[in-house]
Amino acid sequence: MIHHNIVNHLVGMAQRLASTIPIASKDDSIPDLVNQIVTKSTTALCLRDLLVLTIYVVAALELVSNATYHIPKALCKVSSIPVRGKHLDRFSTKDWIFITINKCMTGVFIYCYFGYLWSVRKNERNDHHAHGDEHTDGHRSFEHNCCAGGRGIWNLEEISLMNTFLPIPVLFVTYDFFYTLLHWFLHIKSIYSYIHKHHHHQKAPSRANIDAVNVHPLEFFLGEFNHVLSLHLVVKGIPLWGFHGMDVSWVGALIFITVGGILAGLNHTRHDVAFRVMKKEKMGWTLYDSKHHDVHHRIPQSNYGQYTVLWDRIFGTFREYDENDRVNPAYQLDPVTGQTIKSTKEE
Ligand SMILES: [Zn+2]
Ligand SMILES: [Zn+2]
Repeated sequence: MIHHNIVNHLVGMAQRLASTIPIASKDDSIPDLVNQIVTKSTTALCLRDLLVLTIYVVAALELVSNATYHIPKALCKVSSIPVRGKHLDRFSTKDWIFITINKCMTGVFIYCYFGYLWSVRKNERNDHHAHGDEHTDGHRSFEHNCCAGGRGIWNLEEISLMNTFLPIPVLFVTYDFFYTLLHWFLHIKSIYSYIHKHHHHQKAPSRANIDAVNVHPLEFFLGEFNHVLSLHLVVKGIPLWGFHGMDVSWVGALIFITVGGILAGLNHTRHDVAFRVMKKEKMGWTLYDSKHHDVHHRIPQSNYGQYTVLWDRIFGTFREYDENDRVNPAYQLDPVTGQTIKSTKEE
């Protein structure tokens, strides 16, 4: 019964929030659309819904973070990456303030992310002719602006493998292209100390998503909204690159951010987790390896990618994990306290 009430509550909240999102159309300019959303979403009811959404999202994030931290060790018996850089044992007040601000931002991010997909859904207003149909002036075209690109798919009957699983790798590669550049930019000497230095106080991340979201709020905002930008580019395409967009179902979009959250969490654990196309390390193709981000925390001018090091390989900033790198026994973590053994002994 309680479960039924929660589902009803969630559906009602999602419907009310969805009603604040207008349908994207070429007739409306972007400032018009933003104005419509801001006017509707700053009503008392919408703000209350956004607050409740934030509570749900933070609870889900907590669940994912705990699963990412505990499951690989308990069920899959993965090995640990030895600690080489100094572990940040205790969070400062500033750390906790940043973590709290960033977690509070996740509700608005989810609203914007799915709100975007909702704004580009199929509808009568912007689907007046199919691609390749004859126009009123007689010419036949496969590229036109009025309904160019793909759509957000919300109708259960229209959800398919093509609009759910095909966009996921495209979303990851698009996301990481911009993330790699942003991350590299944040490491530029004159900018580094203002924003990204905070995240690098931790030289050996271990607490999954808590260490992952311990970043400057501006960095968190840019990183999260990069998901919205990537979704927009994958749906609407990048005509300059000859990519004309694809349909993305809400299930595909949900898988993308959930898997993204898990991988960002794994990047900040000591779990040695890798996904390869072929099992053999030398012959296979590594899609993801948690050790790569660990290398970045020790040697910051390398491995800027979040989910993949594909763009680092292309840009020449990739650095392979070397198991022969020196390990300082005093830096290892106590499995019970999760803190450096040395500092645990000192207590
Ligand atoms: Zn990190
Ligand atoms: Zn960095």
